[in-house]
Amino acid sequence: MSRVKKLIRQEIQDLSAYPVPNSEGMLKLDAMENPYTWPAIAKETWAEMLKTLPINRYPDPQAQHVKDEMRKVMGISDDYDILLGNGSDEIIQLLAMALAKPGATILAPEPGFVMYKMIATFCGLNYIGVPLTADFELDEVAMLTAINEHQPELIFLAQPNNPTGNLWSATSIKSIIEASEGLVVIDEAYTAFTDADHLELLNEYEHVLIMRTLSKVGLAGLRLGMIVGRREWLDELEKIRLPYNINILTQASTLFALEHYDMLLVQTEQLRVDRLVLMNDLVAIKGLQVFPSEANFVLVRAPQGMARNWFEGLKSKNILIKCLDGGHDLLKDCLRITVGTSEQNSLLVSALKEIATSETLH
Ligand SMILES: *Cc1c(COP(=O)(O)O)cnc(C)c1O
Repeated sequence: MSRVKKLIRQEIQDLSAYPVPNSEGMLKLDAMENPYTWPAIAKETWAEMLKTLPINRYPDPQAQHVKDEMRKVMGISDDYDILLGNGSDEIIQLLAMALAKPGATILAPEPGFVMYKMIATFCGLNYIGVPLTADFELDEVAMLTAINEHQPELIFLAQPNNPTGNLWSATSIKSIIEASEGLVVIDEAYTAFTDADHLELLNEYEHVLIMRTLSKVGLAGLRLGMIVGRREWLDELEKIRLPYNINILTQASTLFALEHYDMLLVQTEQLRVDRLVLMNDLVAIKGLQVFPSEANFVLVRAPQGMARNWFEGLKSKNILIKCLDGGHDLLKDCLRITVGTSEQNSLLVSALKEIATSETLH
C-alpha cells in the first residue's frame, strides 16, 4: 500500500477535483462570467494605480476600505458585519470548518451549487441533498422532513439557484428557516441579475446570514466574496479566516472597481436585457424547453437523449456551455447557457439552430 493511499483520508481519495474544462480559443458561455471588459481609459487608470502598490508588504488583514466600499454599493446597514473571502467558495469552507463538530450535517436542495457538497465532504461533514420538485421549486414537505430527521447544523439556499436560475417562494424559505435549529445561509451569488434580495431576513432571524460575490458581476478573476450578518456569527468565523486571505492586488482592484461600480451596473443591466432576448430566441428552437431565469444564465432542456450531442455539437463549433445531463436525475437532458454579449448570444443561437435542424433531418 502506498503511503498516499494509507495517509490521505478515504473520502478525499474518493473525490475527483472540481472539473474545469479547457476553453482555450472557445466562446466561453459555461461559467457565468461577465463577457465585458472595461473601457480603455478605465483600464489605464487601473494599471497606473497597480504600479504603485507595495507588493513586498502584507496586505491590510481587515481589508477595511474594501468592506466600507462594499457596504456602500450593496446597501448593507451598519447593524451588520461583513466578512470577506477569497471568493464565496472560501466562505463556504469557513462556515463548514466552523460547524464541523463530529457528526455535523450540511443540507441543501438539489440540484444546487456543487461546492456545498464538495466542501462538506472535505471538511468531514455529512451532506444531505433534498431534491427540488420537477419544476425546480422547493419541496417544502421534503425539506421540513429532512430538517427534522437530520437536524442540519448548516443549510444553504441559493437565491437565485444555480443551476436552475429560479427564485423560490418566500414563504417556503421562511418555513425552512423557522424549522431549522442550525444556521441558514442565503447564497445571493446572482443578486446583480434579480430584483429580489433577502437582506431583511437578517432583521427577522438571528440564525440567517447572507452571502454574495463579485464574481458574477465581472470580477471573477479577482476572487472576492462576502458574507453579511450579525456580529456574534461573524466574530467566530473571523477567528478561522486566514489573516491575509484578500491579497493586495485584489484589495486595490476591488476598490477601483467599486469606485467605478456604475460601469459594472451598466454591464449587468445590459445582460438582463439580453437574457430576455436570448430566452425568446431559445424558445423558438424546436424541441427546446427554456426555464425561467433570474440569473445571468439560462437552463434549457434538449429533446430526450440529445443534450450531450448538442453540447458536443456546440463544442465542435468552438462554443462552450455546460452539459448538466447525467449530473442529477432532475437535470436529465439539461444544458446551462451563460448569457454573453448580444453578438455571442446570436452566435450560440444560430449554432444551436443548425444543430437542432440537422438532428431532425437524420
Ligand atoms: C458561482 C457561485 C458561487 C461562488 O462564487 P465565487 O465567489 O466565485 O467563489 C457561490 N454560490 C453560487 C450559487 C454560485 O453560483
